[in-house]
Amino acid sequence: MGRRRKKEEKIIRKTLPELFLCPNCAKNSIKVTIDPKNNLAGIRCSACGLHGRITIEPNTAPVDAYSMFVDKYYEEGVTQKVA
Ligand SMILES: [Zn+2]
Repeated sequence: MGRRRKKEEKIIRKTLPELFLCPNCAKNSIKVTIDPKNNLAGIRCSACGLHGRITIEPNTAPVDAYSMFVDKYYEEGVTQKVA
């Protein structure tokens, strides 16, 4: 039995660093780090230094952690500590 070789198109996936808009300095420089062991997400802006840590549900996507952080940021007006 001959197997036809399918020419597979390679999907090139760029691993872009996930950067989000900073609510403090309005630059696209927020980086979200997920710590699945402790269900924590670390958020840090490389431009203005805004940072925080939030508790997340397992399998929370970075983008969701980010929006939770932004919500907290606006709710509490916290620029340093987000617990
Ligand atoms: Zn910033």
